[in-house]
Amino acid sequence: MSLRRPHGEGAFQIEPGTRKLARIRVRGVVQGGGFRPFIFRLAHEHGLAGWVRNTSGEVNIEVEGKEIERFLDDLKAKAPPMARIEGVTTTIHPPKGYTEFVIKDSLARVGEYQLVSPDIATCPECQNEILSPRDRRYLYPFTNCTNCGPRFTIIEDIPYDRPRTTMRHFVMCPDCQREYDDPLNRRFHAQPNACPRCGPHLTLVDNGGNPVICDDPIVATVDLFKQSRIVAIKGLGGFLLACDATNPQTVNLLRERKRRPAKPFAVMVPTLEEAKRHCVVSPEEEVLLESSQCPIVLLERRSDSLVSPEVTPGIKYLGIMLPYTPLHHLLLREAGLPLVMTSGNLSEEPIARDNDEALRRLSGIADYFLLHNRDIYSRYDDSVYIVEEGGKEHLLSHQGEPRFPEPAYRRYGE
Ligand SMILES: [Zn+2]
Ligand SMILES: [Zn+2]
Repeated sequence: MSLRRPHGEGAFQIEPGTRKLARIRVRGVVQGGGFRPFIFRLAHEHGLAGWVRNTSGEVNIEVEGKEIERFLDDLKAKAPPMARIEGVTTTIHPPKGYTEFVIKDSLARVGEYQLVSPDIATCPECQNEILSPRDRRYLYPFTNCTNCGPRFTIIEDIPYDRPRTTMRHFVMCPDCQREYDDPLNRRFHAQPNACPRCGPHLTLVDNGGNPVICDDPIVATVDLFKQSRIVAIKGLGGFLLACDATNPQTVNLLRERKRRPAKPFAVMVPTLEEAKRHCVVSPEEEVLLESSQCPIVLLERRSDSLVSPEVTPGIKYLGIMLPYTPLHHLLLREAGLPLVMTSGNLSEEPIARDNDEALRRLSGIADYFLLHNRDIYSRYDDSVYIVEEGGKEHLLSHQGEPRFPEPAYRRYGE
């Protein structure tokens, strides 16, 4: 067997056509983005046997067969969108006689660390499902798949597997388990996989913690918005305070209760088309708005926007974001209104995380609470971006209170 090292780390050239075994280590953001299912399918495509496994620090693979070189090329070229490969190391060994390819249980090694994928905005397929009356996930606010859904906020420990996430309390129903076990399914090894039968559920309570009896907590919440109420919504990374963005009295009340006299609030709109109704959106800003992390993007406000000027007093920008969870999609569609969405905290306090903590801290701000029974393990806040002239994007804040630009940043469009 002749091995040459042409270029790049671990990029072995392997004599094609002979059966051999490759031991591969992949480093980077390779857990939580559908990477193991991808490797599984790739091995099958190339007729290779062996296994793949998450360890605390990386993904390990052993493949055996004749098409290892092409497998390695595809591994780098066709990796799923959320994976960010930082290094691949390959060594070649004599074959062991594997006959099938399997996903092995993860191996935890104490002291190692892993770059974990951030939560990913709801993908178009999942969006379709929650809006299709015949789908079993119709209107289900916790729909996700290997291409989208919570990651960072539900992971209690690495390697990333369901027992080490806050989803471990939910036992999958037979339908969900079948999807989870099927290599050809979009939910193959999707750790937060869930449906209305087996997954988390919403409840609506008042600010004393008393349940509100209703058929559909989303419809009931939207009714509250229309009655000028402020609702705290449990999201992925924490609680958000929401209200009707077109109602100046409610916006001012939120400001007063939150003790945030002048800072701008972010606004969520259901679609890109709706964003364009309120703001001027350049192609670069469009890309940013629709990117997989759905950040808040500062956009120049149109003079005829229905969003109340109280939302961003004295400045000509609006911080706009698109829905990034099925719950947001369902709420925004039902509301048919732009909604203020701001972190669930008093100025300078960290964002609230648990149901009890939120009720304790936010009952003076929110009239009602839209809760659910999946725990948030890591809290985070929305990122705020601005696109400057020339299309260069700028991260203004991340994992903290969304900050709007100081005058120096306000260059776009001026
Ligand atoms: Zn999805
Ligand atoms: Zn289920």
